[in-house]
Amino acid sequence: MPAQRSDYRDILVVMDTTSQHHLSKPALETLSKARELGDQLGARVEALILGTSVDTLGETAIHMGADIVLLAAHESLTVGNVDAYFAAALPVIRERKPEIVLMSATPLGLDLAPRLGAALGTGALSDATKLEVDETERILIAKRLTYDGSVEAAATIPRHRPQIASLRPGAARVGFPDDSRYGSVENVEVSIPRGALKVELVGIEDAPHPEPALEAAEIVVAGGQGADFAQVRELAAALSGAWGASRAAVQFGAAPAERQVGATGAHIAPKLYVATGISGQFEHYYGVRDADTIVAINADKDAPVFRYAQYGLVGDAKEIVPKILEYLKRD
Ligand code: FAD
Repeated sequence: MPAQRSDYRDILVVMDTTSQHHLSKPALETLSKARELGDQLGARVEALILGTSVDTLGETAIHMGADIVLLAAHESLTVGNVDAYFAAALPVIRERKPEIVLMSATPLGLDLAPRLGAALGTGALSDATKLEVDETERILIAKRLTYDGSVEAAATIPRHRPQIASLRPGAARVGFPDDSRYGSVENVEVSIPRGALKVELVGIEDAPHPEPALEAAEIVVAGGQGADFAQVRELAAALSGAWGASRAAVQFGAAPAERQVGATGAHIAPKLYVATGISGQFEHYYGVRDADTIVAINADKDAPVFRYAQYGLVGDAKEIVPKILEYLKRD
Protein backbone atom coordinates (compact mmCIF):
# COMPACT_ATOMS: atom_id res chain seq x y z
CA MET A 1 0.00 0.00 0.00
CA PRO A 2 1.43 3.42 -0.87
CA ALA A 3 2.53 5.53 2.11
CA GLN A 4 -0.11 7.87 3.51
CA ARG A 5 0.56 11.43 4.61
CA SER A 6 0.07 10.32 8.21
CA ASP A 7 2.90 7.75 7.82
CA TYR A 8 5.38 10.62 7.72
CA ARG A 9 6.53 12.19 10.95
CA ASP A 10 9.40 14.17 12.44
CA ILE A 11 11.89 16.56 10.90
CA LEU A 12 15.13 15.25 9.46
CA VAL A 13 18.05 17.63 8.99
CA VAL A 14 20.76 16.62 6.53
CA MET A 15 24.01 17.96 8.00
CA ASP A 16 27.41 18.09 6.39
CA THR A 17 30.78 18.59 8.04
CA THR A 18 33.72 20.86 7.38
CA SER A 19 37.07 19.60 6.15
CA GLN A 20 38.12 19.76 9.83
CA HIS A 21 35.27 17.31 10.70
CA HIS A 22 33.13 19.84 12.56
CA LEU A 23 29.46 20.49 11.90
CA SER A 24 29.32 23.38 9.45
CA LYS A 25 27.79 26.69 10.62
CA PRO A 26 25.01 26.60 7.97
CA ALA A 27 24.19 23.04 9.07
CA LEU A 28 23.93 24.19 12.70
CA GLU A 29 21.72 27.13 11.68
CA THR A 30 19.41 24.68 9.92
CA LEU A 31 19.36 22.40 12.94
CA SER A 32 18.40 25.35 15.17
CA LYS A 33 15.57 26.25 12.80
CA ALA A 34 14.46 22.59 12.72
CA ARG A 35 14.32 22.58 16.53
CA GLU A 36 12.13 25.69 16.50
CA LEU A 37 9.76 24.18 13.90
CA GLY A 38 9.80 20.81 15.67
CA ASP A 39 8.69 22.46 18.92
CA GLN A 40 5.85 24.17 17.07
CA LEU A 41 4.71 20.93 15.44
CA GLY A 42 5.40 18.64 18.40
CA ALA A 43 7.80 16.72 16.14
CA ARG A 44 11.15 15.12 16.93
CA VAL A 45 14.25 16.41 15.18
CA GLU A 46 16.57 13.86 13.61
CA ALA A 47 20.04 14.93 12.50
CA LEU A 48 21.57 12.88 9.71
CA ILE A 49 25.27 13.74 9.89
CA LEU A 50 27.23 12.84 6.78
CA GLY A 51 30.99 13.00 6.44
CA THR A 52 34.21 11.04 6.41
CA SER A 53 34.69 11.17 10.18
CA VAL A 54 31.57 11.86 12.24
CA ASP A 55 31.99 9.75 15.41
CA THR A 56 32.37 12.65 17.80
CA LEU A 57 29.55 14.84 16.50
CA GLY A 58 26.52 13.07 17.97
CA GLU A 59 26.59 14.74 21.37
CA THR A 60 27.09 18.20 19.85
CA ALA A 61 24.05 17.75 17.62
CA ILE A 62 21.96 16.61 20.62
CA HIS A 63 23.05 19.65 22.64
CA MET A 64 22.20 21.85 19.66
CA GLY A 65 18.63 20.55 19.38
CA ALA A 66 18.50 17.06 17.83
CA ASP A 67 16.51 14.27 19.52
CA ILE A 68 17.99 11.51 17.39
CA VAL A 69 21.35 11.58 15.62
CA LEU A 70 22.13 9.29 12.70
CA LEU A 71 25.85 9.13 12.00
CA ALA A 72 26.74 8.19 8.43
CA ALA A 73 30.42 7.95 7.59
CA HIS A 74 31.95 7.09 4.23
CA GLU A 75 35.22 8.02 2.58
CA SER A 76 33.33 9.49 -0.39
CA LEU A 77 31.34 11.95 1.74
CA THR A 78 33.72 14.80 1.05
CA VAL A 79 33.17 18.44 0.13
CA GLY A 80 31.73 18.75 -3.37
CA ASN A 81 30.77 15.11 -3.82
CA VAL A 82 27.00 15.52 -4.09
CA ASP A 83 26.53 12.09 -5.72
CA ALA A 84 27.82 10.48 -2.52
CA TYR A 85 25.53 12.57 -0.27
CA PHE A 86 22.57 11.69 -2.47
CA ALA A 87 23.37 7.96 -2.39
CA ALA A 88 23.82 8.05 1.39
CA ALA A 89 20.82 10.22 2.31
CA LEU A 90 18.16 8.75 0.02
CA PRO A 91 17.77 5.32 1.67
CA VAL A 92 17.73 6.89 5.15
CA ILE A 93 14.93 9.27 4.17
CA ARG A 94 13.02 6.45 2.46
CA GLU A 95 13.25 4.32 5.56
CA ARG A 96 12.53 6.94 8.21
CA LYS A 97 9.77 8.81 6.32
CA PRO A 98 10.25 12.25 7.83
CA GLU A 99 7.46 14.76 7.41
CA ILE A 100 10.00 17.50 6.66
CA VAL A 101 13.60 17.30 5.38
CA LEU A 102 15.78 20.37 5.81
CA MET A 103 19.29 21.22 4.71
CA SER A 104 21.20 24.43 4.24
CA ALA A 105 21.24 26.13 0.86
CA THR A 106 24.98 25.80 0.43
CA PRO A 107 26.19 24.66 -3.02
CA LEU A 108 25.79 21.09 -1.69
CA GLY A 109 22.25 21.63 -0.36
CA LEU A 110 21.11 23.52 -3.47
CA ASP A 111 22.17 20.55 -5.57
CA LEU A 112 21.05 17.82 -3.18
CA ALA A 113 17.54 19.00 -2.25
CA PRO A 114 16.02 18.88 -5.76
CA ARG A 115 17.69 15.53 -6.49
CA LEU A 116 16.12 14.08 -3.36
CA GLY A 117 12.80 15.69 -4.24
CA ALA A 118 12.80 14.12 -7.68
CA ALA A 119 13.86 10.70 -6.41
CA LEU A 120 11.20 10.72 -3.69
CA GLY A 121 8.45 12.01 -5.96
CA THR A 122 7.97 15.19 -3.96
CA GLY A 123 9.04 18.83 -4.25
CA ALA A 124 12.02 20.82 -2.95
CA LEU A 125 11.78 24.44 -1.87
CA SER A 126 15.19 25.96 -2.51
CA ASP A 127 17.06 28.77 -0.82
CA ALA A 128 14.42 29.89 1.69
CA THR A 129 15.21 32.97 3.74
CA LYS A 130 12.38 32.17 6.18
CA LEU A 131 10.90 28.83 7.16
CA GLU A 132 7.59 28.67 9.01
CA VAL A 133 4.96 26.02 9.64
CA ASP A 134 1.20 25.97 9.55
CA GLU A 135 0.69 23.97 12.72
CA THR A 136 -2.89 22.93 11.94
CA GLU A 137 -2.26 21.68 8.41
CA ARG A 138 1.33 20.62 9.21
CA ILE A 139 2.54 22.46 6.14
CA LEU A 140 6.05 23.85 5.80
CA ILE A 141 6.09 27.38 4.36
CA ALA A 142 9.31 28.50 2.67
CA LYS A 143 9.65 32.20 1.96
CA ARG A 144 12.16 34.09 -0.11
CA LEU A 145 12.38 37.27 -2.10
CA THR A 146 11.75 36.98 -5.78
CA TYR A 147 11.42 39.26 -8.83
CA ASP A 148 14.80 40.78 -7.99
CA GLY A 149 13.83 41.24 -4.36
CA SER A 150 10.62 43.19 -4.85
CA VAL A 151 8.20 40.43 -3.76
CA GLU A 152 8.34 37.93 -0.91
CA ALA A 153 7.02 34.64 -2.22
CA ALA A 154 5.76 31.83 0.00
CA ALA A 155 5.93 28.29 -1.36
CA THR A 156 4.60 25.03 0.06
CA ILE A 157 4.39 21.36 -0.86
CA PRO A 158 0.76 20.78 0.08
CA ARG A 159 0.15 17.17 -0.97
CA HIS A 160 3.43 15.26 -1.17
CA ARG A 161 5.72 14.05 1.58
CA PRO A 162 8.36 14.61 2.72
CA GLN A 163 8.38 18.38 2.42
CA ILE A 164 11.97 19.25 1.46
CA ALA A 165 13.54 22.68 1.80
CA SER A 166 16.95 24.31 1.89
CA LEU A 167 17.60 27.32 4.12
CA ARG A 168 19.92 30.10 2.99
CA PRO A 169 23.09 30.38 5.11
CA GLY A 170 22.74 33.26 7.56
CA ALA A 171 18.92 33.17 7.45
CA ALA A 172 18.69 31.54 10.90
CA ARG A 173 20.79 31.84 14.01
CA VAL A 174 22.71 29.05 15.65
CA GLY A 175 21.01 28.48 19.02
CA PHE A 176 22.88 28.15 22.28
CA PRO A 177 23.96 24.61 23.17
CA ASP A 178 21.98 23.02 25.99
CA ASP A 179 24.19 20.46 27.73
CA SER A 180 21.25 19.06 29.65
CA ARG A 181 19.54 17.80 26.47
CA TYR A 182 19.73 14.11 25.80
CA GLY A 183 18.84 11.88 22.87
CA SER A 184 19.97 8.82 20.98
CA VAL A 185 22.90 8.45 18.63
CA GLU A 186 22.88 5.66 16.02
CA ASN A 187 25.30 4.65 13.31
CA VAL A 188 23.89 4.25 9.83
CA GLU A 189 25.41 1.79 7.35
CA VAL A 190 26.30 3.67 4.20
CA SER A 191 26.80 1.83 0.97
CA ILE A 192 27.69 3.95 -2.02
CA PRO A 193 27.93 1.86 -5.16
CA ARG A 194 30.90 2.84 -7.32
CA GLY A 195 28.60 3.57 -10.24
CA ALA A 196 26.74 6.13 -8.13
CA LEU A 197 29.72 8.47 -8.18
CA LYS A 198 29.62 10.21 -11.54
CA VAL A 199 32.08 12.92 -10.58
CA GLU A 200 35.55 12.14 -9.32
CA LEU A 201 37.00 14.75 -7.01
CA VAL A 202 40.66 14.94 -7.85
CA GLY A 203 41.60 17.50 -5.20
CA ILE A 204 40.75 20.73 -3.47
CA GLU A 205 43.03 23.73 -3.63
CA ASP A 206 42.72 26.87 -1.59
CA ALA A 207 42.43 30.13 -3.50
CA PRO A 208 45.82 31.89 -3.49
CA HIS A 209 44.67 34.60 -1.06
CA PRO A 210 41.40 33.40 0.42
CA GLU A 211 39.34 36.18 1.94
CA PRO A 212 37.05 35.46 4.88
CA ALA A 213 33.57 34.46 3.75
CA LEU A 214 30.85 37.00 4.42
CA GLU A 215 28.29 34.62 5.90
CA ALA A 216 30.66 33.09 8.44
CA ALA A 217 32.30 36.32 9.64
CA GLU A 218 31.61 37.70 13.11
CA ILE A 219 32.61 41.18 11.96
CA VAL A 220 31.70 42.62 8.57
CA VAL A 221 32.75 46.02 7.26
CA ALA A 222 30.80 47.06 4.18
CA GLY A 223 31.04 49.96 1.81
CA GLY A 224 28.55 51.76 -0.36
CA GLN A 225 28.78 54.48 -2.97
CA GLY A 226 30.27 56.85 -0.40
CA ALA A 227 33.12 54.52 0.61
CA ASP A 228 36.73 54.02 -0.37
CA PHE A 229 36.98 50.26 -0.84
CA ALA A 230 40.70 50.05 -0.14
CA GLN A 231 39.87 51.50 3.28
CA VAL A 232 36.86 49.20 3.72
CA ARG A 233 39.02 46.15 3.07
CA GLU A 234 41.80 47.40 5.30
CA LEU A 235 39.40 48.01 8.18
CA ALA A 236 37.82 44.56 7.71
CA ALA A 237 41.29 42.96 7.80
CA ALA A 238 42.33 45.00 10.85
CA LEU A 239 39.22 43.76 12.70
CA SER A 240 39.79 40.17 11.46
CA GLY A 241 36.49 40.34 9.66
CA ALA A 242 35.10 40.10 6.14
CA TRP A 243 34.24 42.92 3.77
CA GLY A 244 30.99 43.51 1.96
CA ALA A 245 29.28 46.01 -0.32
CA SER A 246 25.95 47.58 -1.16
CA ARG A 247 24.30 46.75 -4.45
CA ALA A 248 25.07 50.19 -5.81
CA ALA A 249 28.76 49.62 -5.09
CA VAL A 250 28.59 46.26 -6.88
CA GLN A 251 26.79 47.83 -9.82
CA PHE A 252 29.48 50.48 -10.08
CA GLY A 253 32.19 47.82 -10.10
CA ALA A 254 33.71 48.58 -6.70
CA ALA A 255 33.08 45.01 -5.50
CA PRO A 256 32.20 41.62 -7.02
CA ALA A 257 28.60 40.35 -6.75
CA GLU A 258 29.51 37.72 -4.13
CA ARG A 259 30.33 40.56 -1.69
CA GLN A 260 26.86 42.10 -1.95
CA VAL A 261 24.87 42.28 1.26
CA GLY A 262 21.11 42.69 1.22
CA ALA A 263 17.83 41.37 -0.06
CA THR A 264 19.32 40.12 -3.30
CA GLY A 265 22.76 39.45 -1.82
CA ALA A 266 24.04 37.75 1.30
CA HIS A 267 21.96 37.55 4.47
CA ILE A 268 24.37 37.89 7.32
CA ALA A 269 24.15 37.84 11.10
CA PRO A 270 27.54 39.08 12.35
CA LYS A 271 28.18 40.31 15.86
CA LEU A 272 29.28 43.66 14.42
CA TYR A 273 28.31 45.26 11.10
CA VAL A 274 30.00 48.49 10.06
CA ALA A 275 28.25 50.28 7.17
CA THR A 276 30.42 52.97 5.61
CA GLY A 277 29.00 55.32 3.00
CA ILE A 278 25.87 53.19 2.70
CA SER A 279 22.48 54.92 2.69
CA GLY A 280 20.88 51.82 4.22
CA GLN A 281 17.72 51.48 2.14
CA PHE A 282 15.31 48.70 3.12
CA GLU A 283 16.77 46.29 0.55
CA HIS A 284 20.17 46.66 2.19
CA TYR A 285 18.78 46.45 5.74
CA TYR A 286 17.01 43.19 4.82
CA GLY A 287 20.37 41.43 4.62
CA VAL A 288 21.80 42.78 7.89
CA ARG A 289 18.75 42.90 10.12
CA ASP A 290 20.05 39.99 12.21
CA ALA A 291 23.37 41.66 13.05
CA ASP A 292 23.86 42.13 16.79
CA THR A 293 25.29 45.64 16.52
CA ILE A 294 25.27 48.00 13.56
CA VAL A 295 27.61 50.97 13.32
CA ALA A 296 27.00 53.45 10.50
CA ILE A 297 29.35 56.07 9.10
CA ASN A 298 27.58 58.45 6.74
CA ALA A 299 27.95 62.06 5.70
CA ASP A 300 24.18 62.58 5.71
CA LYS A 301 22.68 62.69 9.21
CA ASP A 302 19.26 61.84 7.72
CA ALA A 303 20.45 58.68 5.92
CA PRO A 304 18.02 55.77 6.53
CA VAL A 305 20.85 53.67 8.00
CA PHE A 306 20.79 55.81 11.16
CA ARG A 307 17.23 54.64 11.85
CA TYR A 308 18.45 51.17 12.75
CA ALA A 309 22.17 51.58 13.55
CA GLN A 310 22.92 51.42 17.27
CA TYR A 311 25.95 53.69 16.80
CA GLY A 312 26.27 56.42 14.19
CA LEU A 313 29.14 58.63 13.05
CA VAL A 314 28.10 61.56 10.87
CA GLY A 315 30.93 62.66 8.63
CA ASP A 316 33.16 61.81 5.71
CA ALA A 317 33.86 58.04 5.81
CA LYS A 318 37.07 58.59 3.86
CA GLU A 319 38.38 60.65 6.78
CA ILE A 320 36.81 58.68 9.63
CA VAL A 321 37.92 55.19 8.55
CA PRO A 322 41.66 56.10 8.40
CA LYS A 323 41.33 57.53 11.92
CA ILE A 324 39.83 54.26 13.18
CA LEU A 325 42.65 52.35 11.44
CA GLU A 326 45.22 54.62 13.05
CA TYR A 327 43.62 54.00 16.43
CA LEU A 328 43.59 50.22 15.91
CA LYS A 329 47.26 50.23 14.90
CA ARG A 330 48.18 52.14 18.05
CA ASP A 331 46.97 49.29 20.30
P1 FAD B 1 23.42 55.41 -2.22
O1 FAD B 1 22.01 55.12 -1.95
O2 FAD B 1 23.80 56.22 -3.37
O3 FAD B 1 24.04 55.96 -0.89
C1 FAD B 1 25.33 56.39 -0.72
C2 FAD B 1 25.44 56.91 0.69
O4 FAD B 1 26.77 57.28 0.94
C3 FAD B 1 24.56 58.13 0.97
O5 FAD B 1 23.80 57.89 2.14
C4 FAD B 1 25.56 59.26 1.19
O6 FAD B 1 25.13 60.18 2.19
C5 FAD B 1 26.77 58.50 1.67
N1 FAD B 1 28.02 59.15 1.36
C6 FAD B 1 28.45 59.68 0.19
N2 FAD B 1 29.72 60.12 0.30
C7 FAD B 1 30.10 59.86 1.58
C8 FAD B 1 31.29 60.04 2.31
N3 FAD B 1 32.40 60.57 1.74
N4 FAD B 1 31.32 59.63 3.59
C9 FAD B 1 30.24 59.09 4.19
N5 FAD B 1 29.08 58.88 3.55
C10 FAD B 1 29.02 59.24 2.25
N6 FAD B 1 20.87 47.21 -2.16
C11 FAD B 1 21.75 46.52 -1.44
O7 FAD B 1 22.67 47.07 -0.82
N7 FAD B 1 21.65 45.15 -1.38
C12 FAD B 1 20.68 44.47 -2.03
O8 FAD B 1 20.67 43.23 -1.95
C13 FAD B 1 19.73 45.21 -2.78
N8 FAD B 1 18.72 44.59 -3.44
C14 FAD B 1 17.80 45.34 -4.12
C15 FAD B 1 16.73 44.72 -4.76
C16 FAD B 1 15.78 45.49 -5.44
C17 FAD B 1 14.62 44.82 -6.10
C18 FAD B 1 15.91 46.88 -5.50
C19 FAD B 1 14.88 47.71 -6.21
C20 FAD B 1 16.98 47.49 -4.88
C21 FAD B 1 17.94 46.74 -4.21
N9 FAD B 1 19.03 47.35 -3.59
C22 FAD B 1 19.89 46.61 -2.84
C23 FAD B 1 19.34 48.77 -3.81
C24 FAD B 1 18.97 49.67 -2.64
O9 FAD B 1 17.64 50.08 -2.74
C25 FAD B 1 19.88 50.91 -2.67
O10 FAD B 1 19.73 51.55 -3.91
C26 FAD B 1 21.35 50.60 -2.46
O11 FAD B 1 21.51 49.83 -1.28
C27 FAD B 1 22.10 51.91 -2.31
O12 FAD B 1 23.46 51.67 -2.19
P2 FAD B 1 24.40 52.75 -1.48
O13 FAD B 1 23.90 53.01 -0.11
O14 FAD B 1 25.79 52.32 -1.65
O15 FAD B 1 24.23 54.02 -2.42
